Amino acid sequence: NGSLKLYDTFMKLIQEKGINCVVDLEHEPEGDPIGVKKSGCHGFCEMGPLVRIEPKGYLYVKVKPEDCEEILETSVVGDTCVERLTYHKGDETHKHQESIPFYKMQKRVVLEHCGQIDATSIGEYIAKDGYTALEKALFEMTPEEVLREVEISNLRGRGGGGFPTARKWSQVKRQKAKEKYIVCNGDEGDPGAFMDRSVMESDPHKMLEGMILAAYVCGAKQGYIYVRAEYPLAVKRLGIAIEQARELGILGDHILGTDLCFDIKISRGAGAFVCGEGSALTASIEGKRGMPRVKPPRTVEHGLYDSPTVLNNVETYANVPAIVLNGGQWFRSIGPENSPGTKAFALTGNIVNTGLIEVAMGTTLREIIYDIGGGMRDGAEFKAVQIGGPSGGCLTKEHLDLPLDFDNLKKVGAMIGSGGLVVMDEHTCMVEVARFFMSFTQNESCGKCVPCREGTKRMLEILERIVAGNGQPGDVELLEELAETISATALCGLGKSAALPVLSTIKYFRDEYDAHINDKV
Ligand code: SF4
Repeated sequence: NGSLKLYDTFMKLIQEKGINCVVDLEHEPEGDPIGVKKSGCHGFCEMGPLVRIEPKGYLYVKVKPEDCEEILETSVVGDTCVERLTYHKGDETHKHQESIPFYKMQKRVVLEHCGQIDATSIGEYIAKDGYTALEKALFEMTPEEVLREVEISNLRGRGGGGFPTARKWSQVKRQKAKEKYIVCNGDEGDPGAFMDRSVMESDPHKMLEGMILAAYVCGAKQGYIYVRAEYPLAVKRLGIAIEQARELGILGDHILGTDLCFDIKISRGAGAFVCGEGSALTASIEGKRGMPRVKPPRTVEHGLYDSPTVLNNVETYANVPAIVLNGGQWFRSIGPENSPGTKAFALTGNIVNTGLIEVAMGTTLREIIYDIGGGMRDGAEFKAVQIGGPSGGCLTKEHLDLPLDFDNLKKVGAMIGSGGLVVMDEHTCMVEVARFFMSFTQNESCGKCVPCREGTKRMLEILERIVAGNGQPGDVELLEELAETISATALCGLGKSAALPVLSTIKYFRDEYDAHINDKV
């Protein structure tokens, strides 16, 4: 809302002052006009609304409508910077986005265009080398060669599990089925996570390009994007992007004049967390109730409409164009060998700079919290971070220097998940954190299997009584026993990982459970 007000104010001022302005940059402008563009998310949530002046590269933060005239006169008609609107940290003034610590420490691959281009303009995406990877693949590479680059890159699925993407694609490629599907999981149900939403809203063509490349590799003709209905802007912008790609022959029959025929439909979900699980997601697209089923058979063999299906999330597909364009080796050179590339995180909680960030895998929590995040809010002390949402675990002070990647997190009982990072300070009750996540998971349990349906309910009851000061001796042991049983016997990932936040808080903050139980607080 704040940004739209600024846009309207700029347009009004431009009209009043009779400045030559072009809004639609897709058509050749006359003279030397000024363009006012709405961009997608810049990621720097705490400092919004933001205004970026191109080509000077000035970034203005916390801009109000009453600042617009000064910006226009000084930095657009004139050539200087309005220093009072730039980002300040202590004595430092940062005129340009690239020098601001929040951005400087990031490595942006997936989010590179977010905040830079108009998401509703395919022309702007193309001007940034968009669809060049597709062109390269279709005219210079065989499907096998594209797959080989993805394999060399060692790209692992960004949706949580970290399964190697090339392995998944080759499993679908080798199936002899007549129909194959490319499905994108844009369901992003973790509380506090909004990475995929941002890509869909700010740079939708990037993930479309990744999906088309997957179709080229696997021989699929139809794709689906499963996106929750609570993301109406994402649905709208994806719809616009698909239409634009069809008009330019980038989607549909004989893509760019080749033999590749592939189209994409949007399927809206009703916002059930369990529909992020592969078999529940495909069932939901088919119009059935979104419930997981027993595996095997796996989605790569019998997925959507019982056909071989590649299912990756938004961030995974959005990584593929850069891999094809720059080569798998380039991607592999970023971050650690076993978890190369970058990861987008939604940084929230008691931190100075909340927002959307992307860092090289292997970046430490300390770098994320203190260098990018600007440290703890109000000078409070860092206590813990919940990583991976309700399926993840907590990390503490002892993990501040742990390089974040799939394998390191698994070793300490957490997981990257889709990339939610909730930072908590010394005033946070970790038993209450565990109760919150268990309440979320319990609410989202589809009820199909007993361990998850009943077990999470019992765990929640115990956590509620502990938080209320009515805990009993032996409650912690009971929680651990239930957690073990649920994770060993639940049908799907939601149930199997439901107890992780409880187990990790017990592991690192057992004293808080004991204090609640023994002191009845
Ligand atoms: Fe449903 Fe939970 Fe069983 Fe998964 S584990 S099938 S969410 S009841």
